[in-house]
Amino acid sequence: MKLSLLSLIIFAYCNIMMVVTGFRSSSRGTMLQRCTGFLSPLSKYNYEDYMPPTLATVQQQDVQHRYTSNTQEQQHCNSSSILTNDGLATSHIGLNPQHNIRHAPMVYHDHYSCPNWPTKHRFPMAKFTETYNSLLFDNDEYLIDQQLVLSKEHLYKPISYNNFPIHTFISPPLCPTFLQSFIQGTLTTDECRKIGFREQTKRPELIQRSVLEVAGTILTCQLAIKYGLASNLAGGTHHAECNKGKGFTILNDLAIATRLITWNEEEEDTTTDTNNINLLRDFYREDASPIDRVLVVDCDVHQGDGTATFTYPGQPLHNKLFTLDLHAANNYPWPKESCTYDIGLPDECNDEQYLEVLESSLDIALNEIKPQLIIYNAGVDVYHKDKLGRLNITREGMKQRDLHVIRTCVDRGIPVACVVGGGYDDDVKIVGQRHALVHRVCAQVWRENKMWQRV
Ligand SMILES: [Zn+2]
Repeated sequence: MKLSLLSLIIFAYCNIMMVVTGFRSSSRGTMLQRCTGFLSPLSKYNYEDYMPPTLATVQQQDVQHRYTSNTQEQQHCNSSSILTNDGLATSHIGLNPQHNIRHAPMVYHDHYSCPNWPTKHRFPMAKFTETYNSLLFDNDEYLIDQQLVLSKEHLYKPISYNNFPIHTFISPPLCPTFLQSFIQGTLTTDECRKIGFREQTKRPELIQRSVLEVAGTILTCQLAIKYGLASNLAGGTHHAECNKGKGFTILNDLAIATRLITWNEEEEDTTTDTNNINLLRDFYREDASPIDRVLVVDCDVHQGDGTATFTYPGQPLHNKLFTLDLHAANNYPWPKESCTYDIGLPDECNDEQYLEVLESSLDIALNEIKPQLIIYNAGVDVYHKDKLGRLNITREGMKQRDLHVIRTCVDRGIPVACVVGGGYDDDVKIVGQRHALVHRVCAQVWRENKMWQRV
């Protein structure tokens, strides 16, 4: 965006902070198919229940996705198998939000965490399961002596990998060649190394969980638009670009969800397949108010450099996707990209400094962009004990951050879809507990505004 008032304020602030800390920035810019498996009795996650398909099966399914028949019968079958009457792409409907006086809609899939992950791996893969466990089994800080989620059936579940129309929903905005290589497990060794998952990258379970995470964020955006507020127990894969993955992220869920939510038949010129158009048309829901501006509020400690690249002139999401990005300037990635509003924070930035910049920048971004949907990346790697963070934010600081973003948007009537972003610790259970915070905050805002009455 042009040199806005915010840019000037941030520029001044960062210069002050850089003088104070001696810091030097490297930034260049500032359905309705219920899944019976899901309805099993409440229990701890059990990997024995999970029977991932072979790579050959994944590849075969992918071919089927790409070469489905164009007959009317087939089109109808494809559409009805993944979309509910109201356009929600889900395989399990959670507790009806109109009856849910406890928490906002939440999205989760048992396969978010790839099983049999290397124990010493830097990426705490089991954190998604642990976040879910925390919400079901730990006492909630707002609800005395009670857990927040009473039953697994109260959570929404994204459509299954087999039913997800990968090439229709993901490409564009992703490069078809890159997407196909990833899905078929044929990325090069160097591409896998840059992602950070090395040989794990080609495992069918990893391929599937990456797609499910995207499906989850899409569903979360739909739920947010419908009910005002929703959260995904995964998502925030913000380093991934259209033709490559990096920094533990492969498919950029923020950009993909934005493309689907803002899809406009009149502007579409790259998808010619009738089947694809029908799926997208169903998804777009003609009855819903059109959405053309999405703001990603990215508070992960690392810059969402990948997301930023989708917003550049010439890109399909230019003038549709905007980013307000608060990150540690002296941290990965290098080089940085230019976000719409780019805020590089100094090392050891504390709660007070962080919240002050967040409040002023969010206010300006909302006033200037006038977004119709917010996707909030609530990364917990800003936490002072995080392994990869460089900031000095306390748990109370993260809570106030989440409360401010979510309350501000809800107060303005802007739908908010929350994703979890990054969080790193040797104890994965602790990471899950940290990620659970944003869902607890969503629930609190849901209750204080009696949002079930708004629908
Ligand atoms: Zn991060």
